[in-house]
Amino acid sequence: MNLRTIARYGVRTVPGDEAEIVAAFRRGEAVEGPAVAEFERRFAAYHDAEHAVAASFGRMAFYYILRALDLSAGSEIIFPALTFWVVPEMARRAGLRPVFVDVDPTTFNLDPSKIEAAITERTRAVVPTHLYGQPCEMSEVMRVAEKHGLVVIEDCAQAAGARYRGKPVGTFGAASFFSFQMLKGINTYGGGMALTGDARLAARVREQAEAEPLQPTGDLIKRFLTGYASRVGVSPRGFTFWGFPLQAVASLFGHYDLSRYVWEKIRPLDPFPRTYRQRYSNAQAVLGLRGLARLDEFNSRSREHAARYTRGLSDCRSVRTPRVLPRVEHVYYQYCIYASDPALASRRAIRRGVDFETTHVDVCSALPLFEEFAAPCPGAVATEKALQLPVYSRLRPTDVERVLRVVREVTGDLAPLGERDATGHASFKETLHAG
Ligand SMILES: *Cc1c(COP(=O)(O)O)cnc(C)c1O
Repeated sequence: MNLRTIARYGVRTVPGDEAEIVAAFRRGEAVEGPAVAEFERRFAAYHDAEHAVAASFGRMAFYYILRALDLSAGSEIIFPALTFWVVPEMARRAGLRPVFVDVDPTTFNLDPSKIEAAITERTRAVVPTHLYGQPCEMSEVMRVAEKHGLVVIEDCAQAAGARYRGKPVGTFGAASFFSFQMLKGINTYGGGMALTGDARLAARVREQAEAEPLQPTGDLIKRFLTGYASRVGVSPRGFTFWGFPLQAVASLFGHYDLSRYVWEKIRPLDPFPRTYRQRYSNAQAVLGLRGLARLDEFNSRSREHAARYTRGLSDCRSVRTPRVLPRVEHVYYQYCIYASDPALASRRAIRRGVDFETTHVDVCSALPLFEEFAAPCPGAVATEKALQLPVYSRLRPTDVERVLRVVREVTGDLAPLGERDATGHASFKETLHAG
């Protein structure tokens, strides 16, 4: 029996991170210090962009950008229907009206052909989200935005280091934002960054970020301690001894989905929780510099795992592997396959020691939180048939082979997803919509 279990997520850390955190505290540079400016400078340089401004959260970087743009109250801002609920909620907090546009279920990203129909005389901005690490079809998004004079703000929270036609995401629109939460491409146990080429916009974002109070030392210590505990929880050993038994038992009762205890509760963010209104700390920036230096290496490891999955499942009729646009570099924050019964597949998988999450991103167009902005978005609803395979950079090649075996075992007898057509997709969409 294989005692090693495989958690759904892995946390990116660089060996020696803990010692660097302790050293920052010892120097008296945990809260404030020179690393923040250095991280901003290197982050901008990595993207060949002019300005980067650090923030307490990716969502706060987005909020500062919206405020800096000074859009009139009630302006409309277009979001993909499938995104993290926090992002449209921040737009609402900034006095704007979210408008949800459907996604293409084969890429999980905003369908650029559907943007135009949602534009009104009050539309001012559009937020392409590079979901799961795959860049949106940016040439199309930019064409529509330019035609209608819309500001483009890219949500790069899941896609640091991804490229579209050779250019890094975050450098197409007027501004973009990134997240450094524990599970994201660069992990600093929370934090975010705004990126822009516009000096005036950058100055207005910075003014807001630097007006926030410093993080209390106690908060910072708590941040690193809970971060450490969660990281151990998803490590092979930690997961084997607590996460796995908990989920295996839950799977017997059919209510296997423990993720709702992990993710932030969906709720109005009025007022902002206290931790939102803080400055990014120096100790976090120290980790950011280290993570940024390894970003491409970590991303290429996830990409290799993904390539192995795609090859290994090419003949598997019970699942559909993700579609990748030509000339993009996907960074695989998630590798999502489709199966006709993802919940059953994940219940079976956890009993084999492998943890597959069913989708956790929100169909925002159907959330009670956004009831007044509800819109029919069948593409986003169709993504509820997706199943996330672990693809994080820490996985070993033997883990990847095991995941492949388990996918076959747990989906083999499920209803097939329908034939591929010549382009591989039209008939697939129908199957999803019908299913
Ligand atoms: C993580 C995430 C964010 C927000 O990042 P925070 O740093 O948690 O505020 C925004 N958009 C998407 C798609 C994300 O996954």
